[in-house]
Amino acid sequence: MDFTLSEKTLERKARARQWVEEVLDPLCAPLEEEERLPKELVAELRRGEFFGLTIPPEYGGHGWTAVEWLSVLEELSRGYATVRMIAHTMNGLFWRPLEAFGTEEQKRKYLPGLASGESWAANSLTEPEGGTGKDINARATKVEGGYLLNGHKWLITTFPGYTTLYYAFASTEEGVTAFLVDAPTEGLDLVPMEKMMGCVGPRHYNVLYRDCFVPEKNILGEKGQGLEVAIGMLHLSRTSIAFGCVGLAQKMLDLAVAYAKKRSTFGKKIATRQAVQANIAQMGTEIEAARLLAYKAAWKFDQGLDIVADAAMAKLFAEQVVTRVAEMALRMHGGVGYTQAYPLERHFRDARSFHFEEGTEEIQKLLIARQLLR
Ligand SMILES: Cc1cc2nc3c(=O)[nH]c(=O)nc-3n(C[C@H](O)[C@H](O)[C@H](O)COP(=O)(O)OP(=O)(O)OC[C@H]3O[C@@H](n4cnc5c(N)ncnc54)[C@H](O)[C@@H]3O)c2cc1C
Repeated sequence: MDFTLSEKTLERKARARQWVEEVLDPLCAPLEEEERLPKELVAELRRGEFFGLTIPPEYGGHGWTAVEWLSVLEELSRGYATVRMIAHTMNGLFWRPLEAFGTEEQKRKYLPGLASGESWAANSLTEPEGGTGKDINARATKVEGGYLLNGHKWLITTFPGYTTLYYAFASTEEGVTAFLVDAPTEGLDLVPMEKMMGCVGPRHYNVLYRDCFVPEKNILGEKGQGLEVAIGMLHLSRTSIAFGCVGLAQKMLDLAVAYAKKRSTFGKKIATRQAVQANIAQMGTEIEAARLLAYKAAWKFDQGLDIVADAAMAKLFAEQVVTRVAEMALRMHGGVGYTQAYPLERHFRDARSFHFEEGTEEIQKLLIARQLLR
């Protein structure tokens, strides 16, 4: 296994880091301050190499491999969490089910818009009355020419005005079925959730399907294959979350190191204290271990190998690491790190969302144990 990144990938990584710091971050302030996605930010995302990076060129994308893309996502994860989420979902989660299960007509209809960033997508899976994303209470009733969807999804990451495609999962006679719902449309209503702890920006949403008509041709995959679509999309996506954790953890370590070199107590920089150095060493080591697990899963995906356990392990470990690093970096900042004077306060809150995205720690452990017990 060779993890040497090509010159081209290293250049893209360096460019992404510079772009986040110099261009994106200054445009992102309204996300936190006004819970608003500024138009200038969206224009900048659509202008650069941000959308369609992994979508195959025949559908308007750049066709990057998982390793190429995720090593860049690591850099994008150093900035504002909402932008990381858009990058993660639009380049990973949202187009792959179409590639794997879509008809040629569906691919031609949706992929070019997703590749250019003109249309965005959302995954409406989680429900208030179900549990951890897999129990589906939403129903799809057969009517002439298609189905009527009824159900309540919540915690859904979506951007009204930009999101024009919803993946919806609902029970039919054949079992859970996946639908492609074009938005806006009658019977699909959005109600904002309460403000989140982190990943602040436009709210996440309750998505209410009320007699929402979906034509038969918008079924994704076979009827009854919905859980396969829903769960299948999560494996690489978990690897992507692992890279997100690594990127944010590295950013917090960098901030902690910079602070430790600047802050003096009892006449000496705190970076010279062995207790502080031990924490820095611990953080660096854990981040590197998480990075290696993430690269291994991405590399295996590119080789066409099974990554179910690798992706769950990478996500599980990286999420634990980013949580521990957030804690250590906060302590190293002293009391001022607990204020909004430093970006660490925001990163600390943002880090908590990784626990839930693409399944909790307990669910990753279930997946890993199932593989190990086979
Ligand atoms: C920032 C953010 C963005 C999100 N975006 C989306 C989105 O775009 N689309 C979407 O569909 N969802 C989204 N979600 C929802 C997210 O996927 C779920 O919150 C997550 O999968 C957990 O499901 P749940 O909330 O139903 O928790 P529950 O299933 O109610 O779990 C509660 C607790 O019980 C544990 N638990 C549950 N079942 C088991 C079990 N069998 N064994 C052991 N422990 C168990 C869980 O690990 C957890 O600790 C988002 C959530 C967040 C925080």
